[in-house]
Amino acid sequence: MKKELGIFTFKDLLFHFPYRHLDKTKITPIGEIPQQTEWVLIKGRLTSLELIGEKRSRRLVAEIRDNTGTMELVWFQGITWIQKNLFVGIDYSVFGRLSFFQGAPQITHPETEPYIAGKPETKSFLEPVYSTTEKLTARGLGGRQIGKLTFQLLSQLSEKNIPEILPDALLKQLNLLPRFPSLKTIHFPETAAAYGDAVTRLKFEELFIAQIRSGLIKSQRHRYSRGVIFNQVGEYFNSFYAKYLPFTLTGAQKKVLREIRNDTGSGRQMNRLLQGDVGSGKTMVALLSMLLAADNGFQSCMLAPTEILSRQHFDHFTELLKNMPLTVRWLTGSTKTKEKKKIIEEALTGKLDILIGTHAIIEDYVQFSNLGLAIVDEQHRFGVAQRAKLWNKSTIPPHVLVMTATPIPRTLAMTAYGDLDYSVMDELPPGRQPVVTAHRYEYNRPQVMDFMRKEITKGRQVYVIFPLIEESEKMDYENLMKGYENIKAYFPEPAYWISMVHGRQANEVRQTNMQRFVTHDTQIMVATTVIEVGVNIPNATVMVIESAEKFGLSQLHQLRGRVGRGEEKSFCILLTSAKLNKEALERLKIMCETTDGFKIAEKDLEIRGPGDIGGTRQSGLMDFKLASIVADREWLELAAKMAKRLLDEDPELSSAENLMLKYHLQAQQGLTQWSKIS
Ligand code: ADP
Ligand code: MG
Repeated sequence: MKKELGIFTFKDLLFHFPYRHLDKTKITPIGEIPQQTEWVLIKGRLTSLELIGEKRSRRLVAEIRDNTGTMELVWFQGITWIQKNLFVGIDYSVFGRLSFFQGAPQITHPETEPYIAGKPETKSFLEPVYSTTEKLTARGLGGRQIGKLTFQLLSQLSEKNIPEILPDALLKQLNLLPRFPSLKTIHFPETAAAYGDAVTRLKFEELFIAQIRSGLIKSQRHRYSRGVIFNQVGEYFNSFYAKYLPFTLTGAQKKVLREIRNDTGSGRQMNRLLQGDVGSGKTMVALLSMLLAADNGFQSCMLAPTEILSRQHFDHFTELLKNMPLTVRWLTGSTKTKEKKKIIEEALTGKLDILIGTHAIIEDYVQFSNLGLAIVDEQHRFGVAQRAKLWNKSTIPPHVLVMTATPIPRTLAMTAYGDLDYSVMDELPPGRQPVVTAHRYEYNRPQVMDFMRKEITKGRQVYVIFPLIEESEKMDYENLMKGYENIKAYFPEPAYWISMVHGRQANEVRQTNMQRFVTHDTQIMVATTVIEVGVNIPNATVMVIESAEKFGLSQLHQLRGRVGRGEEKSFCILLTSAKLNKEALERLKIMCETTDGFKIAEKDLEIRGPGDIGGTRQSGLMDFKLASIVADREWLELAAKMAKRLLDEDPELSSAENLMLKYHLQAQQGLTQWSKIS
């Protein structure tokens, strides 16, 4: 039982909820069974029982009759046993799933019970059905036995053992059932309506507890974590702003910078998630925050998930800061040893002001003299543990700004990242036009290539992306090569030049090929999804995605985000084979309909379920038994609101009203531990 279902205690048993109920509360006369009925309980006399058919179609067929009609019962398995135990002429109650065979009602493999005078004919509650495993069933712990155990357990328990944990006032306000009756009812409800109420209450509890927990983590961090203080906006920031900022900031960029300024000036450590759709201009927010750190005498670092992306940030920042007395360095896994040694020393002695790089930065050998700010670009590639490593780079942990373009629906952010402060940049720089997106089939390829040629003639550049399916690296690679040759046939040298970038190339080759595209040496970039995040080449205006049906929605959105980054009109063409399943069609349709990352994320959530958007599974904050963050969005929002209100009033959960809630949380996982979790 333990291993198979994760049930270790009576409490676990109580919280192993049935996935369905069977209604045996009323007997339906056979002649009056409505057509759409799924499960039905009938009572009647067995009038015949015979074995018919040969071999595979061999079956036992019985007829049962009441005053209103007859019903056929059929068994394909366990025939011998049934034959021995059913008797013509006796009354039975029969329960099962109704089907129709050649217009006549029948039940296959019904449950049958001899009708005994005096014994109640119907159940007073709906009968629960539990998930179990074959192994357990074989040992006599099938779904029904679990029900029996649970029934016994519940009959020995009371409110005393299962006390209320939600504050009274909250229950009243939301009109929720108390806890113990809800638990009883979710297993053994008298009616479907009662079941619904019990589920609502328990769902709310799940959502509310999760919100309280992350709220506590957040507020404890706010109160107890000490952070370095950036109390002034100084020379670096101001002169950059006045002289070198290449554009006017958007309102959203300004808003987020203000939030960062507030956080970093407060004396507590900032842990902020900045979510901004592709192209919203997160990089400049990062740079300005690093200048703020420099103004206050602190070093900063910025991590990117790929070498290509970190190189781009490095080049971009060095260029922008070339007239300012700041030392900017670039560190990745492939930095030459001599250079690496130098950088490590500069970080340690404080000579270096800004370090850009890949995860090489979080290696233990990189230590700073006074790191004040760490920025992580495209967070979903960095695990929580890695994030924590950043905290140990300085005596006082640096402020952490996590930036992601993975559009996270609000509800998901609320549950999965509830412990982080959360900023949204919901505005694109002016002059952007939505990327025109079209779905084309393989047989349209010649037209697609013509279109590419036209854009290239106008001076634009084009990405052609091939899917990467990790199970078969070799095949992916072969596909990519075939695709490359194919493109090359349409775009021969020397009129056209093509860069190719993929994961199997040596770093240097990859860098060079990338660089050639950046400098417009090549007009076409053929690549795998290594190009997916962050890359910013505003002159590239066409994105062709090959075998687009093989990509998920958020990935398609990320890829499309590589174009439409300048003021020219941009295009995304989703090329697919002619044969598509329903889900793929749906994804392509959504992509063609909207460019709004949040809408896409919500759709993705609807289609796939929360799954693993942004690695949220590991966060453990989404393991809900009953609630669904998609279907129960309104309850989630309500729970969040209520949790916040409660914590605002009683941050330590010390009032008598909230004592049971506090005990419950402590029992679940030591209250004091929380400050360390995030
Ligand atoms: P992302 O949020 O996807 O990281 P980037 O920071 O790469 O976006 O910015 C996308 C493009 O928009 C870049 O070319 C950048 O220079 C430009 N950009 C950023 N902010 C502004 C702004 N306020 N006005 C005009 N262009 C901007
Ligand atoms: Mg970016």
